[in-house]
Amino acid sequence: MSDFHAANPSRRTILKGAAAQFALCLSGSLSSALAAAPMMGVVRPSVYRFKLGDFEITNILDGYVVRPGPHPIFGQDQKETSVQDFARKHHLPTTQLENPYTVTLVNTGSHLVLFDTGNGEARRDATKGLLRMRLKDAGFSPEQVDVVVITHGHPDHIGGLWESGVPAFPNARYVFGESEFDHWKRGDNVPDRRKKNREQFVRSVVPLAEKATFVKPGQDVVPGIQSIEAFGHSPGMLAYRIESGGRNLLLWADLTNHYVMSLMKPDWHVLFDHDKAQAAAARRRILALVADEAIPAIGYHMPFPAVGFVERSGESFRWVPASYQFNL
Ligand SMILES: [Zn+2]
Repeated sequence: MSDFHAANPSRRTILKGAAAQFALCLSGSLSSALAAAPMMGVVRPSVYRFKLGDFEITNILDGYVVRPGPHPIFGQDQKETSVQDFARKHHLPTTQLENPYTVTLVNTGSHLVLFDTGNGEARRDATKGLLRMRLKDAGFSPEQVDVVVITHGHPDHIGGLWESGVPAFPNARYVFGESEFDHWKRGDNVPDRRKKNREQFVRSVVPLAEKATFVKPGQDVVPGIQSIEAFGHSPGMLAYRIESGGRNLLLWADLTNHYVMSLMKPDWHVLFDHDKAQAAAARRRILALVADEAIPAIGYHMPFPAVGFVERSGESFRWVPASYQFNL
């Protein structure tokens, strides 16, 4: 050893010096990196595309809103404390909730079909009404949309039909559920909290009637896309079965408004539901169908990218977000 050191007097010094230098650099670069990188804020994905048979499906986040809740929006007929206990048990805040809005674009190869239009310019702010910008991020222009399907007449679904006083999708024809359209147009049985909604419908949906097809449950919109009765959340809401190359998916609009509450407590009354009992019955019927057929579903208010599966869980259901199933 001593021979080695004697023969290499400078090596030890160099190593020592290098270690000290390195330690200095490390602490210096760490502290300057921490100081220099600003906090960037939350980033969330807003475009998600996958294949279903020969179709391509693009989900686009129109945005989200934060509301007080979950009670009484969910479990309106339950005690506030028991709804809060349930939320806590499922890792959710007890006094606030986030409600996302996801619009779906289906490219069948011959038609580009848009399901619902988001909140639009009337409710546009930093967190919602963003479909128009994000459509571009997804690689589409509004002019390319051939068919706009409106699942039901609530403001977060019809809000994007117009932009700056002209139809937002200038080359599209429209598909409305016949009984949903009639309900809003007639204006009977509209509760006070939906009066403004009815005015918006008359102003922005009724003028589009001449370019619209009115469908009943069980009718095709384009080949591979068929309506399903989902009345209750609104009087004539329709869900849609999308089928291509032997693959099926169910787009259920607002059948569920929360991935935990609506699936695990499908019978709880929901503030947004027009007919509480009818909405709960539709929820049970369609959730059971999706679970038993083991097909994927898209829900407008499910967490983005809003596509997943349903499993039976005791007397109710469970939402299982999709992962790589569509990619293989
Ligand atoms: Zn909605």
